[in-house]
Amino acid sequence: MTNAPITQDVLTLPRKLPEGGPLNLVGLTRDQLRDALIAAGTPDKQAKMRVGQVWQWIYHWGVRDFADMTNLGKDYRALLAEHFTIAVPEVVTRQVSADGTRKYLLRIAGGHEVETVYIPEENRGTLCISSQVGCTLTCSFCHTGTQKLVRNLTAAEIVGQVMVARDDLGEWPKPGEPKDETRLVSNVVLMGMGEPLYNFDNVRDAMKVVMDGEGISLSRRRITLSTSGVVPEIARAAEEIGCLLAVSFHATTDAVRDTLVPINKRWNIETLLNALREYPRLSNSERITFEYVMLKGVNDSDADAKRLVKLIAGIPAKINLIPFNEWPGSPYQRSDWERIEAFADIIYKAGYASPIRTPRGEDIMAACGQLKSATERARKSRAAIEAEAGM
Ligand code: SAH
Ligand code: SF4
Repeated sequence: MTNAPITQDVLTLPRKLPEGGPLNLVGLTRDQLRDALIAAGTPDKQAKMRVGQVWQWIYHWGVRDFADMTNLGKDYRALLAEHFTIAVPEVVTRQVSADGTRKYLLRIAGGHEVETVYIPEENRGTLCISSQVGCTLTCSFCHTGTQKLVRNLTAAEIVGQVMVARDDLGEWPKPGEPKDETRLVSNVVLMGMGEPLYNFDNVRDAMKVVMDGEGISLSRRRITLSTSGVVPEIARAAEEIGCLLAVSFHATTDAVRDTLVPINKRWNIETLLNALREYPRLSNSERITFEYVMLKGVNDSDADAKRLVKLIAGIPAKINLIPFNEWPGSPYQRSDWERIEAFADIIYKAGYASPIRTPRGEDIMAACGQLKSATERARKSRAAIEAEAGM
């Protein structure tokens, strides 16, 4: 006999429903949904069929009321309503930018708030979703990083952001109407608040739901996860999620990256690049996006551009240049436009795509790195931010 602790797989062992109110079905994996339906009294033999039916109602048709699940018997609908809910975050405010960008402030359990941003483009629409309330990391150029309050979002709250956006855009198919193939939310990026790889399991489960072909059905190539560089979880992301990867690179020396992206002190540039070399093979995807925020006089010289190209040699990559988006009290300035173009040019001539990301929704503070819940007033002073940035 060993004294090793007994670990229980909560997904398969206790077929009991939680006490204290109905269970939210949103965000459950297919296995978890099956267990929940069985725990509520669904005969084992019917479970597979029931999972398929309920799944389709929730994720294909966008139905929120069990009474509307018309291919289920009345008694079964009543049983479901007794034990379960289909709940998504509550929209507190919705702001629409002059450029069409929509920002949703959502309220989740505990009274916390997170933001989700919808960015319509010519041939696609990208939904930028959050993975945490705030962020435990403190990148010195990021507004979210100044927010003190942090909790991980549940899988339900992550999937719920996609569902809320589809509600608002009127994107659920309508029974009896011909299938409309245009997708308003055609892409999802995990680039809102939080570090997705610090909430790995919930992000993975949520993305599995979003990718499932019988529901929201977004291909894994239309989902991009952005990380600041949580090295041990990068290979896991490739294997367990398989979506595209973006990395907040932002600097070409450890000294500068230590101040901009402090997680670099734990996993430095070399360690990060080694992990990235493996990613495309493990995830069967083509390219990694290197995000690079353009900060005036900090990381935007020609020498930086040349170093960047050398560092990433051998990695299938595209470099996304992000003009810095200012926020109240931010300690940096955006690089001049000519500087950004000169930087982009060096990278482009070295053979890499180097798009400059157009800031979207700036008038409603919806641009990259500006998100922070509206009720979070405990702003650090400029001095505190600059001290952390080592300025
Ligand atoms: N935590 C993850 C994902 C969220 S941030 C990450 O750091 O990758 C999404 C992107 O916006 C990151 O590349 C981040 O570095 C960038 N960003 C943060 N603050 C910004 C700002 N003020 N201006 C421009 N980009 C910013
Ligand atoms: Fe967190 Fe990403 Fe902002 Fe850094 S850039 S503080 S990791 S949200």
